[in-house]
Amino acid sequence: MPLYNLDAIVLKTFPFQESDFIVTLFSPLKGKIRVIAKGCRKINSSLGKIIHPMSYGNFLMAKGKNLDVITQGKIRLNFFNIHKDLERLTHGLYALELIDRFLEEPEPSPEPFALLLNTLKELAAGQKPETLLRIYEANLLSHLGYQPELKQCIQCKNSENLAVFSFAMGGMLCLSCKEIDKNGENMDPLTLQFLKSCFSSSIQNSRPVPENVLIKIKIIFQKFIELKCEKKIASFQLLREVSRVTHGIRLS
Ligand SMILES: [Zn+2]
Repeated sequence: MPLYNLDAIVLKTFPFQESDFIVTLFSPLKGKIRVIAKGCRKINSSLGKIIHPMSYGNFLMAKGKNLDVITQGKIRLNFFNIHKDLERLTHGLYALELIDRFLEEPEPSPEPFALLLNTLKELAAGQKPETLLRIYEANLLSHLGYQPELKQCIQCKNSENLAVFSFAMGGMLCLSCKEIDKNGENMDPLTLQFLKSCFSSSIQNSRPVPENVLIKIKIIFQKFIELKCEKKIASFQLLREVSRVTHGIRLS
């Protein structure tokens, strides 16, 4: 079988037959692909020690008839600092899930790959997860072409008195137009300013934000993401539970 090398992050694993895993990998070259890791659920399997969600490694792959096969792997980063902290872990797994949910086809994905890798690196380095993940979400949505209109009213193009975020219309409505969407979210100027800054910040450039603004922005991103993705994001429930335990915050 022809062999090739692949730098990739493990997005998820699924038990297959007696001792194998079906593994979803995410790589800059091939995007999201499903492959098989044979025997890696056996106790002494060397592959089994490195194939788990979030591992970033270099994998020696063999071309398969249906699925390609991981034959060997060498870990580049295991993100141990993320795994040892519940809040970081749930945010890291959420970052993986968004890639898995939004990207369907195996196609080159250097930008989302760099975004995911940089986010995991910053999460491991100690950046505050809540701020970091909002910038991650904004950058991913922009890459996918889902950037909302935040600078002017999406209805009348007025750039003043922006008052309500419309999920259905994908942007802000001004005071005069806000009645068009009764299900929009009222926005104060500070929250809108932070929402805009998420879309213009890089992962390495996140700044502290007031807690109440962060909570509101988080709810807006979650609603907007589920609307655009058209699928349930399983991590949201877990994020809510962890947030309640670690910060005493109940989100919806
Ligand atoms: Zn308007």
